[in-house]
Amino acid sequence: MLIPHRPEPSPPLAILPTFVCPPERLSESVPDTASAPVTTTATTVPYTTVIGLEVHVQLQTQTKLFCGCSTKFGAPPNTQVCPTCLGLPGSLPVMNRKAFELAVRSALALDCRIASFTKWDRKNYFYPDLPKGYQISQFDLPFSSDGTLEVVDPKGAWSRKVGIIRVHLEEDAGKSMHDEASGVADTRIDLNRAGTPLCEIVTQPDLRSPQEARAWLNELKLLLVYLGVSDCNMQEGSLRVDANVNLHIPVDGGPDAGGRIAKTPIVEIKNMNSFRSVERALAYEAIRQYEEWQATKAEMGKTPKQTRGWDDPAGVTRAQRHKEESSDYRYFPEPDLVPVTVSDEWLAAARQAMGPPPAVLRQTLATTWKISSYDADVLVNQGGDLVAYFEELAGKVGEGKVASNWMQQDVLRTLNERGGTIGEFPVRPAALADLIGRVAKGDFDTSRAREIFAEVLASGRPIDDVVASMGIAAVDDDELVALCRALLAENPKVVADVKGGKEQAAAGLIGQAKKKNPNVNPGKVRAMCLDLIRQM
Ligand SMILES: [Zn+2]
Repeated sequence: MLIPHRPEPSPPLAILPTFVCPPERLSESVPDTASAPVTTTATTVPYTTVIGLEVHVQLQTQTKLFCGCSTKFGAPPNTQVCPTCLGLPGSLPVMNRKAFELAVRSALALDCRIASFTKWDRKNYFYPDLPKGYQISQFDLPFSSDGTLEVVDPKGAWSRKVGIIRVHLEEDAGKSMHDEASGVADTRIDLNRAGTPLCEIVTQPDLRSPQEARAWLNELKLLLVYLGVSDCNMQEGSLRVDANVNLHIPVDGGPDAGGRIAKTPIVEIKNMNSFRSVERALAYEAIRQYEEWQATKAEMGKTPKQTRGWDDPAGVTRAQRHKEESSDYRYFPEPDLVPVTVSDEWLAAARQAMGPPPAVLRQTLATTWKISSYDADVLVNQGGDLVAYFEELAGKVGEGKVASNWMQQDVLRTLNERGGTIGEFPVRPAALADLIGRVAKGDFDTSRAREIFAEVLASGRPIDDVVASMGIAAVDDDELVALCRALLAENPKVVADVKGGKEQAAAGLIGQAKKKNPNVNPGKVRAMCLDLIRQM
């Protein structure tokens, strides 16, 4: 399906704002928190690590941002291109309305202010995979700014609210593929990716440890996947992270003792291919910067910013180049695209179309189904389909806690072992609810139910079939009474102990009962034996 391109509004050019320089992305006037305790690290270090992130997210549109070419991943190189994304003379871009909608949805979920008027700018630089010689991006008037996203430790040990400076929309570049293995300096260019819509999310330098950064990225990814704006697949490059990091080091005891805070030069780290790499790279870089500061006492502002690449196998960052300042890009307003205006009505509709974000969903699950916030966190972190499965199951079982236990101990464990998605899971909520219901009725106990569950999974047969073939039958009351009487006759010491007030002695009878008849329900055996002893 081709997504229709936006019928363009045409505001008079006179309302184009004057061109102004943007603020520095990584604020140099960071609130002074060097003396605050680092809550997420076990060891205390003599500095505060200050981290800001820049996240690029490919939006899940079927076509590119300014042309009708497909964005499908994995096609043969240079088969998804046209004069517009190749930057050929005479071609004109037209904005993809769907991309804008998805971008606004992301920004709304990040609590950003949405600009009623936004425009496009050319970011000029030369690179082989950028055929136009410039990237269409947003400079001084991004479509959204001033947001926040909080990450909360599921065990409640810490939380961190991270400010979002801005979210803007831009086009992706192509890919250069360097064939170093062949021994010749052979580089090929694939322009299929050129023009794919990207959301760039820039945070305030609010994160205080590599662990926090990783946890926050997980929360961001979860949010974007829930919103349906991106698949956030890092292997396919749908989500890419750059990190800005420096240290705040108390000097002469810090401000409280009449000293001051020294700030190390900000380093931007690139080439991190997983959230784990982000965490490792930041941890490495913090130590490296501290050692460098001890040796050189170099502070921010006195040396230029640096970009370092993360070498994952070696576990080190390596200097790449000094970071460009935004003035190097010679931004100017894109003359081929009209600015975009956003009405209040449109925004209200976009807001309404959004499902609850993960943070809200966790609370809803915990209160609706009376499960712990930790359990709610585990469920929500698995994605919307698993939450839907759980809610259907809990609704049918009528007991949130019981349903949640089955989800965590059985469904999730099986999914982890076998792989696959909850949508393909062979035991559907109705069947699992039936199984759990039979345990509640006393047809069999939980460990028997687990055996049945495993057999249903292995064979794909319905529960009734499996129950019949395993020779599991409900033990009727007369049979149970007879069995318990026999047990008590064989165990006079247990009877005496229980009569003497040690009710827990009855537990010793369960194993024997199961040997006599593996289908008995342990709870029922225990209750029946206690009843019979009381009558003796
Ligand atoms: Zn194209």
